[in-house]
Formats: sequence, C-alpha cells, structure tokens
Amino acid sequence: MTDQMSDESYARWYERTRDDTARLTRIRSVSPSAEENRAAEEALSLLREGGLDDAYTLSGLDALAGDRYGRHNAYAVLRGHSPRAVVLLGHLDTVGTADYGPLEPWALDPDGLAQRHEEVARLAPGVVEDLAAYPDDWMFGRGVADMKSGVAATISVMRHFAEQARAGACPLSIVLLATVDEENESAGVLQAVRFLHTLRERYGLEYIGAINTDYTAARYPGDPHRYIYTGTVGKLLPSLFVVGQAAHAGDPFAGLDANLLLAELVRDLSMNTTLCDAVGREVAPPPVTLHATDLKDGYDTQLPFAAYLYLNVVTLTTEPSALLETLRGRAEAVMAALLARLDDAAARWRRQGDAMATDEEGPRRVGTMLTYAELRRTTVERLGAETVSVALAAEWDHLPADLDKRERCMRLTQRLWALSGRQGPAVVLFYAPPYYPHVAARPSALEDAVAAAAAAHPEHKLVAREYFPLLSDLSYLRLDPDVDLTALRDNMPVWQEQEPASESGKPPRPGSYSLPLAQMRSLDLPVVNIGPYGRAVHQAGERVLMSYSFGVVPQLIYETIERLAGTVHHGDTETRRG
Ligand SMILES: [Zn+2]
Repeated sequence: MTDQMSDESYARWYERTRDDTARLTRIRSVSPSAEENRAAEEALSLLREGGLDDAYTLSGLDALAGDRYGRHNAYAVLRGHSPRAVVLLGHLDTVGTADYGPLEPWALDPDGLAQRHEEVARLAPGVVEDLAAYPDDWMFGRGVADMKSGVAATISVMRHFAEQARAGACPLSIVLLATVDEENESAGVLQAVRFLHTLRERYGLEYIGAINTDYTAARYPGDPHRYIYTGTVGKLLPSLFVVGQAAHAGDPFAGLDANLLLAELVRDLSMNTTLCDAVGREVAPPPVTLHATDLKDGYDTQLPFAAYLYLNVVTLTTEPSALLETLRGRAEAVMAALLARLDDAAARWRRQGDAMATDEEGPRRVGTMLTYAELRRTTVERLGAETVSVALAAEWDHLPADLDKRERCMRLTQRLWALSGRQGPAVVLFYAPPYYPHVAARPSALEDAVAAAAAAHPEHKLVAREYFPLLSDLSYLRLDPDVDLTALRDNMPVWQEQEPASESGKPPRPGSYSLPLAQMRSLDLPVVNIGPYGRAVHQAGERVLMSYSFGVVPQLIYETIERLAGTVHHGDTETRRG
C-alpha cells in the first residue's frame, strides 16, 4: 500500500477499477478483428452490473457503419439535471501479443504474469528497478496500460454517477464511449463522432468537452511527474512514388536505379530533426519511414524502375499543404543532387574504361517533381477528364477489395503516371491514410476544471502539457475551422468525400478513406487526457502503476466532473439572472 491508497477518496475506486481492468484484459481484442466485439460486450456488462441497467438513460452497443468485421462501440448515457454533457472516452482494442514470445500464453493473464515476474524481467528491461521502486504496485499484460485500465476508470466513474442518477442527483449529463479500432484506423471513434452528433440532437445535449483516458508515461528517465494533456499531436502520411529509368544491370548508366533515389530520399527525410514540428517547448519526434520498397515482383537483371515509401510525420501545427511544399523542396533537391552526381560518375567511368572516350558529355539527367494533384491535372489536360477518370476507376476495381489502403494509393498513382506518358526520373508526392488532425489546447471550462483538480493534489506532481504525444482518438473530436484540407483531399488517391449517411445511404467505395469532417467541426469538443500511468506499452513488459491508475485517475476524473457541475450551476444562475 502506498501513501496514496491510505486516502479514502482513492481507495473507493481502486478495487473495482483493478478488477475491471483484469477482466477486460483477459478478453483478447486485437485490432482489427471481430474479437474486439467481445471486449465491447464486456464493457457494457461492467457498466450495467449490479442492476444499474435502468439507471442509464440509454446504454448499449453502437454498430460501425459498413465495418467489414461487424464491430461496435459500447456506450452509456446519463441525461442529468443539466443538458451540459461531459464525454468519457476510451478504446478497447490492443495490438497483438506475439512480442511476448515464450510468455504469450499469459499475455492476457495479469495473475499468470505476476507469478512469472522473473521471466518478464528477462524479456523486458527496467522491470526489476520498477518492482523495487513500487513493490506490488504493477499489473502486467497486453492492454493493461493501453488502455483497458483507462476504460475501467471511466466505467468506475460512470457507475458512480449512475447511482447518483438513480437517486435523482446526477448534476450534469455524461456520455461514456468505449471504442474499437484505435490501434488500427480509429474507425470506432469516427463512428462515435456520428453517435455523439445524433445524441446531441435527440437529447438536446450541450457538450462541455471530452475526457480521454489513454495511457501516460514518463517523458524522460527518472521523470517523477504524472501528466495531463489538453490537446494532442496529429499525423500525416506523405508518400513518395519514385520513378527511375529501366536499363539492363550491365549498362546501369543508361538508366536509373529507383532504389538508389529511394535510398537518398530516405537518408534525407528519415530521422531528420530539422523536419520536427515545434511549438515553444513542445517538439514532435522526427519523421521515419514506415515502409520503403521497390515494385519488382521477382528476380530479373533489369534496374528497378519504380519504388515507393511512406513517411510517418507527427504534427503540432503543420497543415497538409505546408508539409507537401516542404517535402517537394527537399525531394527536388535530393533528386537534383543525385542526378548531378551520376552524370559526373558516368563521365569518370567512361574515361576510366575507354582511353578513346572523349570528354564530351552526354545530356545531363533531369528529374521531374510533381504532386499527385499536379500529375492528375496535367494528365487530364492531355487526355481529357473522362479518360483519366475511367482508367483510374478501372484500376481501382481491378485491385483486391481488401488491399492495404496505402498500397491502393500507390497503385493508383502508378496508373496515373503510366497514363501521363511521362518518363522518369521522377518523384510524385501523395498522401495516404490515415490522417490524424492535431488538436491544440484551447481555453475552456473543461481545461479550467482539470487544472483545478490537478492543483488540488500537489502530492502527485501532476503537470499539464499541451500535446498528448501519441496518436489517439482525441484527434477526431474537434477540427479547427480554419484548417485547410484541400491539399490532403486533392492528393490522397483514395479520398472519398463523405455525405451525411442519413441523406445518401450510399456505402463507401471499398478501399476508400473518408472522415466525417463536417461532424468533427460541428462537435468542436475541448479535449483533455487524464490517463493511467504505464510503461513498455506495445512491448512484452507492458505494465500499469496500479495505485495511480486505479485510485488517482478515477478520482481526478470524478473531481473534474464535479467542478464542471459547479461551473454549470454557476453559469445557470447567471443566465437566469441575465
Ligand atoms: Zn491507446
């Protein structure tokens, strides 16, 4: 027992949250798969357990429209005295368990792993030190930190308010949403956005903001702080389609090895800290490639003449159009430098190998740098809009329906390149899914309430930071009105504009990507993240600090809601007076 747990206000949440975390952890819910549904069903039964079914205005499972795994989110709604509503948000899915190796049979069994701490310690660095620093205070297992404990914490708080509601004393409205697919493409929260929209209309709710409970972690070795976040980072996935020139490997100067150009681009872009987005003290991590390959199917002695890569870019403020221009500039410079170097190498090589060769140089190599939108526009000018549309649609239909969306983007770009009649060397820049908008902090009643709740507990060394450092569902609850997504839409080959489902009812095209932008804009929720404290997430040593995560986190969420209820009361009085 730590000091924290002697405090009654934490103790009242602890046991229930711990047990629910273990129960949710024991259910396998690797994303994307149909098994995520079992976790959603379990979350719903935890919410309702002990006869609380009737206490909610509404609770159940909400199906994801057009989902190929038939998944649904779990939800519960309390319509309190005030229409002003807080959203509690968490995800139920996890990444896979293969990283546990010999311990995989116990990956979802916190008790089993507790009996095998020594083996866990052998797989995961830092476990021995953590167990010494916080004895008996860690729970191990896939998803315990990311983030079944976070969902369990919101369930504990929701149950508390459900009991209050039954006594007719729920001060404001609360919506709990436990989503699927966060570790994949966030399809769960995109459905939740639509759900929140519908709910607002039906019950006249006025959303104050959303509290997400994804895991938090130390920001540097020995960091004693616990963190609360008032915004989140975003992400773009720019991709580069690289065109070389075909030639026999015995005559390489006649062509261009696309892999060489690809490698130069990787060297310039990956881990380049000058490309880090920064705001004040907040600095995003540098870009890295998540994939880079040529497009050969098998062995031959021809130079690879096409290749592609995509780049993970974490954003704080950079918009799609600005990133596109930055990458265009860099890729153009990289290509020009490489081609000049090859021209020089070709001349040297000719002189070296053939005394009769003159110093006369052949034509210098020239490369073409285009965005997908530019390639499309110039190809349409050449062939007409109809021809290009028909050819791209035929390519789309010809590709397997379950093809990876990034690869679908690349194949469509490749088809467009072929239609253009252009010759390499070239680089074509496009965007691939997913897109996570960054969300900056914004003054709000929610932010004030969280700050006050945190300030009331200096013993936990709580620090509020602006950008939650990992991708999360928070990205989709708000979209700033002045963000310009034209460059994203025009340069993402699989982008499909989304019409309101109620109007069109048209199913999305297989393999397409869309976001409910209008609904995100209209929701416009202030967001915060108050999450469990974990380590080694997405690794075999995944663990959650129980005293903080099962005691302090629910209490902080509870106090935040209570403070908001106070704000609401104050506000209502003023309105009446006015
Ligand atoms: Zn997570």
